[in-house]
Amino acid sequence: MLRIAPNVQKGTVVFRRRINGVLRRSEGIPEEIHRFPRLPPKIESHAELTELIRQGQGFVFNNRDDRKMLHQVKCESLEVMSTSRYEKLFFEDLDQATDWLDRNYGADGWIVCGRCR
Ligand SMILES: [Zn+2]
Repeated sequence: MLRIAPNVQKGTVVFRRRINGVLRRSEGIPEEIHRFPRLPPKIESHAELTELIRQGQGFVFNNRDDRKMLHQVKCESLEVMSTSRYEKLFFEDLDQATDWLDRNYGADGWIVCGRCR
């Protein structure tokens, strides 16, 4: 079980793990947090976005402050989007995207693009 200690700097996690049979205090990111929950991959560059569009599979979430919208990767509005201005996340399928977005932004906190749905 993971326990978050008080007075810990933001961004670090103090946890205990067994090293050579002894529980020791560790800082960093425990493997459990790496695995659960799984963060969707962030699209870091326009080249990555272009490659995903070329492959034609999956969904891209455009995380704008005023409008959080999920697109199919083949949506025509993706090609002209800036990858530096707004965060973009890639999802393999719609169920995975819906599940993650509902949990992070609430069911009313994001929308599906009307052009490509
Ligand atoms: Zn779209």
